[in-house]
Amino acid sequence: MKAPPFTYHRPDSLDEALALLGEHGDDAKVLAGGQSLIPLMGLRMGRPEHVVDIGRIPGLADITLHDDGSVSLGALVRHEQAKTSDVIAEHAPLIAETMPWVAHRAIRTRGTVLGSIAHGDPAAEMPAVVLATGATLVASSASGRREIPAGAFFQGYLDTALRPDEILTEVTFPAWPSEAVGSVVEVARRHGDYALVGLITRLEISANDIITNAALSYFGAASTAVRTPAAEDVLLGARATADTFARAAQIAMSELNPPADIHGTTAYRKHLAGTLTRRGLDAAFAKTGASA
Ligand SMILES: Cc1cc2nc3c(=O)[nH]c(=O)nc-3n(C[C@H](O)[C@H](O)[C@H](O)COP(=O)(O)OP(=O)(O)OC[C@H]3O[C@@H](n4cnc5c(N)ncnc54)[C@H](O)[C@@H]3O)c2cc1C
Repeated sequence: MKAPPFTYHRPDSLDEALALLGEHGDDAKVLAGGQSLIPLMGLRMGRPEHVVDIGRIPGLADITLHDDGSVSLGALVRHEQAKTSDVIAEHAPLIAETMPWVAHRAIRTRGTVLGSIAHGDPAAEMPAVVLATGATLVASSASGRREIPAGAFFQGYLDTALRPDEILTEVTFPAWPSEAVGSVVEVARRHGDYALVGLITRLEISANDIITNAALSYFGAASTAVRTPAAEDVLLGARATADTFARAAQIAMSELNPPADIHGTTAYRKHLAGTLTRRGLDAAFAKTGASA
């Protein structure tokens, strides 16, 4: 299908883009890689009157390593750029591990990491990484910049804390501590498809195998990416063993209530979440060189 008519804007600067959104915000959409927005418009599930293409704005494609070890990505960092970045491989390994799971190479060369976060698809990987790592989002508008913590960003199905006049201009991932390990596990019908259910795990584990920090961040399991605090509590302070992981999986299953659709029932997705929790915890813990 063809998209309904719209006015196309291609600003040359961020200020120009923000002014356009200030003027047309409620009737406008930002166009980054177009890998989600264009299909939605083609299906007439999105009907913006104005499309503001940020693709030619200079200075938005940087990956920056800060002195404190945190890593920032600009609005035009493509998935494939993140996948092949040495800075990300070394300082934000969970993003590097996630990238091969995001769509297919052709889509990754156009689609942006921040576009995926701003879109807020509950089955996408990056929103769950943002939640698992406690990243900070920077939203810019004509009236200034504000920081939004990961936990306050995803508000509902394809709904985020971004206002219509704002552009997500940066995401900053905190420094990755030496005692941190993580994993990405998911079940999809075909590799590169959106996941039926997936899990980003981030653990900090002391030398005697005690879990000192835990994040279990699911995608495809709710109307947004979602963490399971009660299951994380089971892990905190516990020794990393198969029993601990099984208990956390059981609790996570009871905390989640995934919506059913043509690809899977609620019961099936819950079952997947339980299995993936044990797998994800095993895979993360294995990176310490030990096994549960
Ligand atoms: C066949 C197919 C398979 C896919 N599989 C996966 C998958 O397995 N996992 C996955 O995560 N994704 C998948 N995707 C989506 C892909 O990763 C997209 O690239 C991504 O979701 C959106 O990035 P984009 O830059 O293309 O955003 P766009 O399509 O340009 O925009 C998407 C939405 O976000 C808004 N937006 C974009 N950037 C900004 C910004 N900086 N500030 C404010 N708003 C912004 C737009 O206004 C729009 O509403 C798939 C896509 C396709 C077509």
